[in-house]
Amino acid sequence: MKIVFSDFDGTLTVNGKLGAVFFELLDIIEKNDSELVIVSGRSLSWGHFLLTHFPLKHAIMEGGGVILTKNMDGVISEEFLVSDADLEKLERTTIALQEEVPETVLSVDSFGRKSDRAIEFSLMKQTDVEKAESYLLKHKAHFSRSNVHVNFWFGDISKNYAVNYFLKNYTPHINLEDTIFYGDSLNDESMFESFPNTVGVSNIISVLDQLHHKPRIILEGKENAGALGVLAHLKEVFNQSIDF
Ligand SMILES: [Mg+2]
Repeated sequence: MKIVFSDFDGTLTVNGKLGAVFFELLDIIEKNDSELVIVSGRSLSWGHFLLTHFPLKHAIMEGGGVILTKNMDGVISEEFLVSDADLEKLERTTIALQEEVPETVLSVDSFGRKSDRAIEFSLMKQTDVEKAESYLLKHKAHFSRSNVHVNFWFGDISKNYAVNYFLKNYTPHINLEDTIFYGDSLNDESMFESFPNTVGVSNIISVLDQLHHKPRIILEGKENAGALGVLAHLKEVFNQSIDF
C-alpha cells in the first residue's frame, strides 16, 4: 500500500481519544514507505494543526472540500475543490439558517471552516436537528452526518471525489490498487460506494444499518475499534498475509 487514506474521528481515535496507537500507526506506515493522508470532515484549521504537528504531507479536510499540502519548508498551501460562488452561498445560507432555526448549534470549529459548516447535533434536540436538516434540504444545500457533526456545503464535495482528484493530480504515479481507505461513519459512504479497497473499523456497527454502501471489509470486536482496528489490519496488509 503506497497511500493509506483514513477518516479521523472514530477511525484514527479510540473512544474519541487520540492515543499511542496513532503514533504506532504513523511509525508502521513510514517504515513501509507508505503515506497517511487523513480524509476528514473536520475543518481546514484542523488540517493545519494535523500537518503542522504530525509527520504528514497532505490532508483532505472539510469532507473533501479542501486539500492541504505541506512543502519541504513546512509551508502549508490549500486547494479548494469548490467555486467562490459556492463558498459565498454557503456563508449566506449559514446566516439564514441560524435566523430560521435559532436552535442550531454550529460547531466551535465552524469559524475555521471555508467550504462547509458543521452542526453540533449532539447538543441539540433531535427535532431541532431535523428542522435544521429540512431547512438545508429546502435550500438545496448538501449535508452529511459524521459521528460528531452534521456537515453542510454547496458544490460537489465528497470524500470520494476529493480522494480521486488527489490521486489524479497529486500522486498520478500511484495505482488505485495500491491505496486503501479506513472509515467508520455515514460521511465515509462515498468512499465505500466506489473506492476499491475499503475497510470499516468495528465501531462502524452502530451505523451499519444506515449505510447503503458498506466497506468491502468490516472489522469486528472491541479490539478492532478505531485506530486499534486500523493498526491490526495494516499490519496484516504490510505483512502481505492478506490479499486485496
Ligand atoms: Mg468518523
